[in-house]
Amino acid sequence: MAFRSIEPGKVGMYTCGPTVYNYAHIGNFRAYAFEDILRRTLEYFGYEVKQVMNLTDVDDKTIRDSRKAGIPLREFTQKYKDAFFADIKFLNIEPAAVYPAATDHIAEMIALIQKLFDRGLAYQAEDKSVYFAIDKFPDYGKLARIDRDNQRPGVRINADEYAKDSVADFALWKAWDENDGDVAWDSPWGKGRPGWHIECSAMSSKYLGESFDVHTGGIDNMFPHHEDEIAQSEGASGRKWVNFWLHCEHLMVDGAKMSKSLGNFYTLRDLQAKNWTGREIRFVLIGAHYRKKLNFTLDSLAQARETLRRFDALFVRLKKAQGASDGEEIAELLASAEIRFRDALADDLNIAGALAVLHDLMRGANKLCDEGKLSGAGAEKILALFRKFDRVCGCFDVDAAQAGPGEEIPAEITQLAEERVAARKAKNFAESDRLRDEIAKRGFAIKDLPGNTYEIKKI
Ligand code: AMP
Ligand code: ZN
Repeated sequence: MAFRSIEPGKVGMYTCGPTVYNYAHIGNFRAYAFEDILRRTLEYFGYEVKQVMNLTDVDDKTIRDSRKAGIPLREFTQKYKDAFFADIKFLNIEPAAVYPAATDHIAEMIALIQKLFDRGLAYQAEDKSVYFAIDKFPDYGKLARIDRDNQRPGVRINADEYAKDSVADFALWKAWDENDGDVAWDSPWGKGRPGWHIECSAMSSKYLGESFDVHTGGIDNMFPHHEDEIAQSEGASGRKWVNFWLHCEHLMVDGAKMSKSLGNFYTLRDLQAKNWTGREIRFVLIGAHYRKKLNFTLDSLAQARETLRRFDALFVRLKKAQGASDGEEIAELLASAEIRFRDALADDLNIAGALAVLHDLMRGANKLCDEGKLSGAGAEKILALFRKFDRVCGCFDVDAAQAGPGEEIPAEITQLAEERVAARKAKNFAESDRLRDEIAKRGFAIKDLPGNTYEIKKI
């Protein structure tokens, strides 16, 4: 389906943000990185994007764990909000326009529940909680494809998260009980707190209006969270709420979803401690199509390191290109790369296709350098195109790719170092040692780093 925004040239985009009860794991960041690529792609295509990402700072999990820790909810969640913002910066995820926190929008949630009450879609049960009556909303179940026969109207479910086989009336407002401790707000239905789903309906419409263009999240958000959001928002407004839904598949570990409950997760901090950089992690997270599962391994990070190093070496090389004049090939190389990159992204965000274009451009540029067919001006055109592509990818540091501070590494040394990587890969260690000596003879020391990367220093 072709994308079309409600207002020409502008996109309103809502993203379910983190539940701030712990450090986010890199599975969560796969979802945020995909949303970042989506937003950057829309911007690449000329749209002005207003992205809203909520912070779930009150729900079953935040209350449970803040009480376990014996820390007031606000203080407890603040720590993980701060960590989240540090983490997205580390991954070069561009900030959203607004990050509304649920606890700052209780009044909006109460107003929305009241509207649902007035329209006969909500009721207060004996347990004093307020529920959404799913049988009053004929479209219930459409997003997650749950037919009416598998729904249990009138049966009530109070938990924020529940499985597809427990489809039932869900809680909009949860009456206070002792497990909530001091977390409670007054409402027309008594003391309590909002359900998780109403938070997103209230905050998205406050910042994006009653109808907007794009809503995203991980695939596990589709049911019940997004199904319930639709029921609440469309039930209250009587209008279509969201035009395009995009869900990203899971990041997996050994065939299972990476998740906190399974304990098979890495946080960014875990990977930082092992000296992986933000762009290496980002490169792995964005590398697969968002609708496909992505298996995470440390080896994939090592491969990312090597790939990015090859690009870095090219950028350094291009900055030193001094061919007498440009060959005819360069115009063709640039034009076809630009068209193919756009086409790949326009095809449901085919990032693997887009990255293949960057690889081809690298190959083409290296070839022109090898043949001496690239002037400084021609090389700058190629660098400019890489910079442009990186507005979407966000992991090719075109201008940071250079020798260490104050050190100029001559192109012939980089060349020898690259030959040495090839020799090591071919397990030709005699050649690798010979090249190390050759590099040393010319005044440079080479230190090997993981992922077939290296550091060169002047002796
Ligand atoms: P949560 O903080 O649990 O609400 O999750 C935040 C975001 O991460 C949601 O969009 C989830 O769907 C997404 N998510 C959780 N686990 C994974 C995973 N293993 N792979 C990809 N996305 C995930
Ligand atoms: Zn949400």
